[in-house]
Amino acid sequence: MNEKSILLMAASTTHMLSLDKLLRQNGINTDMVPAPPEHGTVCAIAVKIAESDLDKAKSLIDKHKIPIEGIYEQKIRALQGLLDKAVTDRLSHEFIDAIKKVERGEELSLKDITSLLSVKTDKGKQILYSAADRMRSDMVGDRVDIRGAIEFSNHCDKNCVYCGIRRDNNNLGRYRMGLDEILEVAGEIKRIGMSTVILQSGEDGFWTKEKIVLLIRRIKSELGLRITLSIGERSYEEYKEFRDAGANNFLLKIETTNRELFQTLHPDDDYDYRMECSRWLKELGYLNGSGNIIGLPGQTIEDIAADIMYFKKMGINMIGIGPFMPATGTPLENHSVGNVDMTLIAVAVTRLVCKNVYIPATTALVSAHPEGQVMALKSGANTIMLVNTPAQYRQNYAIYGNKYPVDIASAIDAITKAGRQLPKFLEDKENFARVTGYTVDKRRISAK
Ligand code: SAH
Ligand code: SF4
Repeated sequence: MNEKSILLMAASTTHMLSLDKLLRQNGINTDMVPAPPEHGTVCAIAVKIAESDLDKAKSLIDKHKIPIEGIYEQKIRALQGLLDKAVTDRLSHEFIDAIKKVERGEELSLKDITSLLSVKTDKGKQILYSAADRMRSDMVGDRVDIRGAIEFSNHCDKNCVYCGIRRDNNNLGRYRMGLDEILEVAGEIKRIGMSTVILQSGEDGFWTKEKIVLLIRRIKSELGLRITLSIGERSYEEYKEFRDAGANNFLLKIETTNRELFQTLHPDDDYDYRMECSRWLKELGYLNGSGNIIGLPGQTIEDIAADIMYFKKMGINMIGIGPFMPATGTPLENHSVGNVDMTLIAVAVTRLVCKNVYIPATTALVSAHPEGQVMALKSGANTIMLVNTPAQYRQNYAIYGNKYPVDIASAIDAITKAGRQLPKFLEDKENFARVTGYTVDKRRISAK
């Protein structure tokens, strides 16, 4: 189980994707992971395989003449010195034992994860946050990746209890963006310099398989952006056609791995089917996104620990962790906001357990707390999603209340405050000024 992993880096994203496909077609288990910082200059993604498959992979690479930039052994990350200067009184033995395992680079058990999540003292939280920050830096580097999201329809056939755009909520105007309109916003995302567009919507039957395929094809051929879909549950066949049309990533959160809680919150869904969808997405070669909501009614620390173990075991590549936010017009409208500290702790522990993954500083976190994204970036997170939905629709994409309109300026602000590196496309000063309307001076933003 602890067999060494090998990272293969192809010479371009296109080669990386064909390499991944080739290996999988030949029975090799692969995983798409963020490239480690020391090798991440050419392409941000690496293909991970088990060491025992390396010879077979090498001969396939030679046979198909795939240009390879490097083959690296994935380092075991030990984080020494986490407890050196820490006052360890008032920290539980279980917590200290789990941190010692992190220091030695050992795998954490479900019990260890629960002990870490149960931390109460500020000192203990600081140890966790800085451990996760070091793990993030080692595994995915200091640069924060920014992606643009278009929330293209708020129609939803489902009635998830927590969600503001559930079908029974009559308090909001429903909208659907047209194909050309979506293309136009995606074009703006491309002009800003971002390489990934996230297409998100309710589970909207109007957007049939054929329409989504057409949308993917047009974005691919006209703009060449990477595409993340976040459109909920579909059939295997549909996921396959979207992938064949060019979709790269898929976000479908499990929300909670507590089966009973899942069923209570999702009257239209089946827990096993949701898990099955996630397995299909992986099998089809998507960069597979999941995540959970922190602070759901009746959710326990053990539930959150089980969620994190699930992300690890399922080989999830992108993990969105956000606090529950009450949404007007839903059965949970008076339920309290999920705890921000607990969310940050979950982010940190997820980084320590899942290591080489993308973890967004979520919109829900900055909606719950003005410094939410900064704190998440300091506790293991490494990406930010912008809300690029046109202004006239944005307020109706009210999956929860007080949703913070994350834009490029606020993302830059969070990255700068967290002391992290901006994405590559913002390093060019002219482009920075063009897309933000601001000038950059020693990494501080000032009005022109
Ligand atoms: N319909 C798709 C995508 C839109 S919902 C789907 O369900 O996958 C996207 C995410 O919003 C969900 O995965 C859920 O985690 C989050 N969300 C919805 N309502 C929320 C709330 N009240 N508080 C926090 N997150 C919420
Ligand atoms: Fe629809 Fe997704 Fe909201 Fe559920 S969470 S009601 S599927 S938009």
